[in-house]
Amino acid sequence: MIVMKFGGTSVESAAAIDRVACIVQERLPLKPVVVVSAMAKITDQLLAMGRTAGRGDLQAALDLSRAARERHFATATELLGADTATHAELAAMFNALDELLRGISAVGELTPRTTDNVCSFGERLSSVLVTAAFGARGMPAVLVDARNVIVTDAAYTKAVPQMGETNDRLQAHVRPLLERGLVPVMGGFMGATRQGVTTTIGRGGSDFSAAIVGAGLDAERIEIWTDVDGMKTTDPNLCPEARRIREISFEEAAELAYFGAKVLHPATVVPAIQKNIPVLVLNSRNPKNEGTRITARGVRSTNVFKAIAAKKRITIVDVVSARMLMAHGFLKSIFEVFDKYRCPVDVVSTSEVSVSLTVDSDEVLPAIAAELRDLAEVKYEGHKAIVCLVGENIRGIPGIAAKVFTAISDINVRMISQGASEINITFVIEEDAVPEAVRRLHAAFFSQADPAVFD
Ligand code: ADP
Ligand code: ASP
Ligand code: MG
Repeated sequence: MIVMKFGGTSVESAAAIDRVACIVQERLPLKPVVVVSAMAKITDQLLAMGRTAGRGDLQAALDLSRAARERHFATATELLGADTATHAELAAMFNALDELLRGISAVGELTPRTTDNVCSFGERLSSVLVTAAFGARGMPAVLVDARNVIVTDAAYTKAVPQMGETNDRLQAHVRPLLERGLVPVMGGFMGATRQGVTTTIGRGGSDFSAAIVGAGLDAERIEIWTDVDGMKTTDPNLCPEARRIREISFEEAAELAYFGAKVLHPATVVPAIQKNIPVLVLNSRNPKNEGTRITARGVRSTNVFKAIAAKKRITIVDVVSARMLMAHGFLKSIFEVFDKYRCPVDVVSTSEVSVSLTVDSDEVLPAIAAELRDLAEVKYEGHKAIVCLVGENIRGIPGIAAKVFTAISDINVRMISQGASEINITFVIEEDAVPEAVRRLHAAFFSQADPAVFD
């Protein structure tokens, strides 16, 4: 069997869903399980509805809901004709959403738990639409509610899937459908706790859902269908010269995804690595293109790097020891506090008297600074970005750092790190300098691209 995941732009309209149906139809002999995102922009709109209702502006929230309802209805009509059972199903879901928004507005508060409930409507709606569209085109599609399958903890908005139970449910609920020759369709991004409370697994998480399903059912491959021809040497929005990467290793892809290549959710490769399942990134608008193949081995190229990623909205934190000299246990005490506040740290660099690190949310920094008060002074500065160059070829080649920093010699670099795993060089700059830095680095390292690896 295979897993095929279609992102928001791939199901954004009737025409897009029609393309998806054709793509899946061609793969029927491979026994696909289909995972879909919410229609493009719907998750953002649902979040806006929740926040608006939480502020007490119920009418504005209901207006946003009405617009989303009309879009889903119009798409259903285009795909299936007017007034079908699917319209009734969509209407029931929108009524439930509106009821929820009224509740949020009445209590005047939007909790993370309710946020997840609101957000889950995006994938619940799109999966109903796509299942019906497949059926209308002669495919034996059946809807699977992801909340009966993906079991997570209760860390709302970033819930962690519990693999053992999820795998059991995949075997119990999804495997038999495949054995009967059916095409299971499920929404990505959402799950539920063991008690059945709806959760979501983090923005962009449908890729991760697909990988979980693939690993649980021992898929031959996991296909991530999106709106570009695979993973590129950098974000094509920043740099139109970006080239398609034909093949890349799990490790390289994970670094890129983690440091900002939005095309893949960073957790996607984790289940794939465990079962050694290749992940393909493909373009639903250009299905003939081979896309990018992510495998355990990857490939060597004559280029030093495979790609450049950038992650904005980063805060630099400077933790300066109150005792001038870094005492034994200083690092441990610092990281214990970051851990206590569940604040992930990305880049770290140390000196005798201070530790600099980066975080991607400054929400908990005042609390962390207060807790570290006796030990250190904590200063922080926002609007920074991490730029990360990834490639397994940098192992053992001298002069690479010099070439990187020469290319951006007039850009102020605030932190630098090259991991011992030696597959990336990472540095921190001002957010506004990202486009210029990425373009220059791309020109320096990819103006001549190895045709065996890059398109
Ligand atoms: P989907 O809705 O299919 O999940 P996303 O919007 O999450 O799609 O991801 C696809 C987008 O990721 C592309 O349209 C592109 O703008 C962006 N992107 C960022 N970095 C890269 C990269 N290195 N390669 C390809 N796309 C990238
Ligand atoms: N719809 C969710 C989001 O926009 C999940 C996804 O698309 O992967 O974040
Ligand atoms: Mg995505």
